[in-house]
Amino acid sequence: MRMDKTQKLTAEEIINEYPEEKLADIIYKYGEERFYKIIAKNICKQRKIKRIETTNELVEIIKNSIPKSKQNDGHPAKRTFQAIRIEVNNELDPLYNTTIEAIKLLKEHGRLAIITFHSLEDRSVKEAFIEAEGRCTCPKDLPYCVCGYKSYGKIITKKPILPTKEEQDENARSKSAKLRIFERISKN
Ligand SMILES: [Zn+2]
Repeated sequence: MRMDKTQKLTAEEIINEYPEEKLADIIYKYGEERFYKIIAKNICKQRKIKRIETTNELVEIIKNSIPKSKQNDGHPAKRTFQAIRIEVNNELDPLYNTTIEAIKLLKEHGRLAIITFHSLEDRSVKEAFIEAEGRCTCPKDLPYCVCGYKSYGKIITKKPILPTKEEQDENARSKSAKLRIFERISKN
């Protein structure tokens, strides 16, 4: 199950190792999925028989957990995948998630500017901006899109803004600083 190349283990761990209650909780909280209880229950039932290893195994469990008549709001697995993705990101990278949440709080044409001082932090902000701008984040082994991705605006700085030579001379600590800016634009 590949939510992302580097996150393979974690998504699989969440599905196979989280207690049922915790699983239900994240599907409800991050996925806003109303069938969270039955989905969590069925995941736990299935993983006792066999470890859930592929995306399609998980898709099947989710499909079988939601009444057919309620499967008309996009792909039935959409909300659960979203929940797992957010949980993975939270565990690995709180800055990534905080950045996305901050963007959602902006008013129309409001801008979020973040200065980081470490390349790993800069990467989290960059990745969060790319996701907020809108891209498919489905697992790579899924043949169709279930994430229903959404755009929250646009990246203003294609490349980070760096301190000038003068600024670096004046303030040595600015050397590693990188500034990135995102503008909120609702598409309605
Ligand atoms: Zn997608």
